[in-house]
Formats: sequence, C-alpha cells, structure tokens
Amino acid sequence: ASNSSVAVGAVVKANAYGLGAMEVLSALARAGCRTFYVAHTSEGEEARRALAGFDADIFVFNGFWPVEIPALRAANLFPVINDLAQVESLRLLAPDLPFGLHIDTGMARLGLGDAETEKLLARPQILDGLAPRQIMSHLACADDPKAPLNTLQRRRFQRVREQFPHIPASLSNSAGIMLGAQYHFDVLRPGLALFGGCPIP
Ligand SMILES: *Cc1c(COP(=O)(O)O)cnc(C)c1O
Repeated sequence: ASNSSVAVGAVVKANAYGLGAMEVLSALARAGCRTFYVAHTSEGEEARRALAGFDADIFVFNGFWPVEIPALRAANLFPVINDLAQVESLRLLAPDLPFGLHIDTGMARLGLGDAETEKLLARPQILDGLAPRQIMSHLACADDPKAPLNTLQRRRFQRVREQFPHIPASLSNSAGIMLGAQYHFDVLRPGLALFGGCPIP
C-alpha cells in the first residue's frame, strides 16, 4: 500500500553526501522538491542560495544557539529543536520562528529523550504560541528490517504524533522508507537513496 499524500524531503547534509550541494539542490528543486534538511546553519545558508527563486522549507537538524537566530531568520531556516530547553529559549527569543521538533524514540543521539517526551505529552501546551512545522524522529536500525527496535520506534513516534495531529510527521530515512507504508507518516527524509545508495541489499 502506498499513501499518495506523503511528501518527500531531501537530506542534503555534508555537501549533499559529497556530490556538491549547489548542483544537487537546484536539480532537486527543479524536480519539484520543496523540503530540505541540512545539519548546520552554515549549510542551510548555502542551501538557501542554491534554492533562490524556489519557495522551499529548509530544516537544520542540529538545532540552534541563540546567537544564530539572526542568521536563521535572514536565510529563512527552520531549526530542529532537540530538547525542551531549546523550546523555552525559542519562546523567549523568537516565538514566531518556524521549527522542527526531534523526538528521540531510540536512536539515543538527537532529540527529546524519554523523560522530556513524557513531559511534552503531559503538557502539549508547551508548544502553544510557537510555530512547529514538523515533528520528526530517526530510526536507529532501519537497515535491519527484522530489528524489533523498528516497531518500537514507530509506536513511540505514533504516540507523539497522535498528540499533535496537525503537525506534519516525519520518521523515515532511506532504509525506513523501505520498511513499508506504516513507516511513512507525512514526510519522508531520504538522503542516501536519492543519490544512488542502497541501504538494504
Ligand atoms: C542523515 C539523516 C537522514 C537521511 O538518512 P539516509 O540514511 O541517508 O537516508 C534522515 N534523517 C536524519 C535525522 C539524518 O541525520
């Protein structure tokens, strides 16, 4: 089964996986891609230049430091918030700035951990008056379709998603996309697969 309303965002961190961000970004934009993900604010600034003339959303995975807010605004970049302290800092400094919210469902790398996720679920109004544009999580071992953690992460993510049904949800990288439609939610986040890589033999 496939869901025709699923959007595809492009992960173009690390100079589009070494292929050349300028060329890759404009080719993807010409092909209709309107959502992009980079790791750092400086990559986002470069992406915005490559996407001049396109109405594209650019998310920056690594969150933000307060000092970066003017740069984020100037290039119209959306930081991906990784903990509740950053949510509070956004509320104080730039409540209108659109952002993504990363939930750690098992990757143990980036995103709100279990305790902070429970806090958010218990008090969803933490986000009131702010401008969330996407809720995301990252799969830890999607390249192993049999790994029980995949199901667990999907269920944890589903639970958060249900609390915020109006915010577009994104779970799957290239390998996650291949786990099937249950893993697709609203926006896909392939990197590798866009560039000819194959995460699963
Ligand atoms: C790198 C990355 C992706 C893309 O992963 P691929 O395996 O290259 O498809 C998606 N989401 C996040 C958060 C990433 O860091």
